[in-house]
Amino acid sequence: EASRKFIVGGNWKANGSPDSVKKLVKDLNDGDITAKDVEVVCAPPFVFLSEVQGSLRKDFAVAAQNLWDKDPGAWTGEIPAQMLADMGIKWVVLGHSERRENCGETSQIVAEKTKFAVDNGFSTLTCIGEKLDAREGGKTFEVLDEQLKPLADVLSEEDWEKVVLAYEPVWAIGTGKVATPEQAEETHAYIRKWLTDNVSEKVSDSVRIQYGGSVNDKNAADLGQQPNIDGFLVGGASLKGVTYGGAVRRA
Ligand code: PEP
Repeated sequence: EASRKFIVGGNWKANGSPDSVKKLVKDLNDGDITAKDVEVVCAPPFVFLSEVQGSLRKDFAVAAQNLWDKDPGAWTGEIPAQMLADMGIKWVVLGHSERRENCGETSQIVAEKTKFAVDNGFSTLTCIGEKLDAREGGKTFEVLDEQLKPLADVLSEEDWEKVVLAYEPVWAIGTGKVATPEQAEETHAYIRKWLTDNVSEKVSDSVRIQYGGSVNDKNAADLGQQPNIDGFLVGGASLKGVTYGGAVRRA
């Protein structure tokens, strides 16, 4: 646990204007997180990547919210991994539930994108998580198995060093309905056990698992104390800047 550095991602989703992004970057630059204690990764919309990359404090990383897992070429409207790599972007969020839901990204596609991203030098925040009906129907672990299996099929042990898993129960995203620390910890522990059984002990011990879903200043501390929670992926609260949901390294 001690070797897994706490990592907090800010998913800005499709929000922001030239003015609001400037202000958010300023707030983050002036904020009180020391990246020595917490790794911070900000994921602005594509159109602001360049600006944020140029203006954000250098101890914070910048992530794309998606990438195209093909070489550059005749792919109108897509953003190939190579293009992002060329501009110095080192992180990418993949498989966010909004993309799974709205853009038809299956677990297979998410796994292939994760593999392509890693092969092209990226670290990934790869998102998994069940919807409300699965949670209520006692099918959470089945859904996670289905989402994890394609990843385990394509990633080598070495590849896993570049992957952070973000466990984001869909019913908790943008709803204000945060998972309890116990619910989150139980699920994170399940994911880690799955990695032990299906990948390796080494990967299970070292992979960081973020919790995402209505994290904010008030609930972050309790969640962050859980032994298998290694950080947060924050949506709404990340747009308020500075605190990233009061991210705290567990004592
Ligand atoms: C997210 O989009 O990854 C997320 C967790 O959103 P929110 O924090 O707003 O629930």
